[in-house]
Amino acid sequence: MPFHKFGLEAEILRAIEKAGYARPTPVQAAAIPKVMQGHDLIAIAQTGTGKTAAFVLPMLHRLSQWHRQGPLRGIKALILAPTRELAVQIMENIRAYGQHLPIRVAAIHGGVDEEAQIKALRKGVQIVVATPGRLLDLMGRQKLAFHLLEMLILDEADRMLDMGFLADIETLVGILPKRRQTLMFSATLSKEVESLARRFQYQPKMVQIGKRSNPADTVIQCVYEVPAHLKNPLLLELLRQPEFTKVLVFARLKDGADRLTNFLKLAQVKVVKLHSNRSQDQRLQALQDFKDGKAQVLVATDIVARGIDIDGVTHVVNYDFPVNPEDYVHRIGRTGRAEAQGDAISFVPKQDLNLLDRLELCIGQRLERKRLRGFDYHAPIPAPTPGDKPPRRDWRQRTREMEAKKTARPTARVPQKPGGKRGKK
Ligand code: AMP
Repeated sequence: MPFHKFGLEAEILRAIEKAGYARPTPVQAAAIPKVMQGHDLIAIAQTGTGKTAAFVLPMLHRLSQWHRQGPLRGIKALILAPTRELAVQIMENIRAYGQHLPIRVAAIHGGVDEEAQIKALRKGVQIVVATPGRLLDLMGRQKLAFHLLEMLILDEADRMLDMGFLADIETLVGILPKRRQTLMFSATLSKEVESLARRFQYQPKMVQIGKRSNPADTVIQCVYEVPAHLKNPLLLELLRQPEFTKVLVFARLKDGADRLTNFLKLAQVKVVKLHSNRSQDQRLQALQDFKDGKAQVLVATDIVARGIDIDGVTHVVNYDFPVNPEDYVHRIGRTGRAEAQGDAISFVPKQDLNLLDRLELCIGQRLERKRLRGFDYHAPIPAPTPGDKPPRRDWRQRTREMEAKKTARPTARVPQKPGGKRGKK
């Protein structure tokens, strides 16, 4: 079914045409009519399926219709998102899809100077996209009011709950007008998401695209069983292949992401990194460089990568295998977006084989095992060269050592100096 069959405003159809969308994706086909009719909605859809346009297009349509009846007063729609990057991305989408409409949008999120955000609000906006923390802060100081709000949208609801935003969301929703349309988008339908729906929505319609926790069909997945100390050389070998042009690499921890980035830089790979210890400016710059193709590789942790939409990611590499199967689904959803094809590669050392088993059980699929021809999987751990930092010990080993130290603490008294003070050893 083409877009014009929905009856969307002509200005919105023009923007869709400009974006080059020939037809709605399944989640858009299912969600757009329901939202246009004013229903509450829970949409469970695989990542990268066009979820953003599924709520932004009908939201703009409704706002545009109200505008026809008279100038819009106050903030009419609020979108909550888990991360700053996602909030900015949604704002950019709204600007693109609403470019022919007299509707203004602002993004409110932490990590940047709030004055610019307050200034944008003062100019008068009809849509606010926000992360919960900064929004509550500004509301507490009367910088914005929602008494004229008509639509509330929770994007990546499951992620917001995972990130501990439940209390903030409850406080926020408690302040909003009771009569409103509430949409909830989530990658998974957990008990917690269902509970939010029960409390915040009125007779919601349900849209579920694809099976739960099923990675997008457009992603080709495979596994390299590789010893942990050979992950770096294997990654480097893969990156040297010509088809690896835009590669998103996931590390489990921030310092792991830092170390991997340094290694790749030393090997002359154009690489940028994205994790929560970086400033907002650094994060946006890294994302932009990767989007523009100035960097071949983006090394990221899960926290910032979820929901991020980057065109043409050729490969997602799970350098560290995700502990949680749902994170796996999200990570690999960064490629193969909007029905394009992509590859997802996972490095699995022996100690992570149990995580792989659990994932395969969860997605009901055995992933293909691959081996890179000519790569020495039995190379020894390289001897440290002078100046190398000693390798980090495994956290389990460190905990054991600390416990052992505690129990072996000497009970004998420390000899005292003649002056009564403790003598130095
Ligand atoms: P999202 O799931 O909202 O992050 O969207 C994933 C990607 O799909 C984005 O790059 C959108 O621009 C693109 N997209 C959204 N809707 C369509 C459509 N109907 N046809 C083609 N691409 C689309």
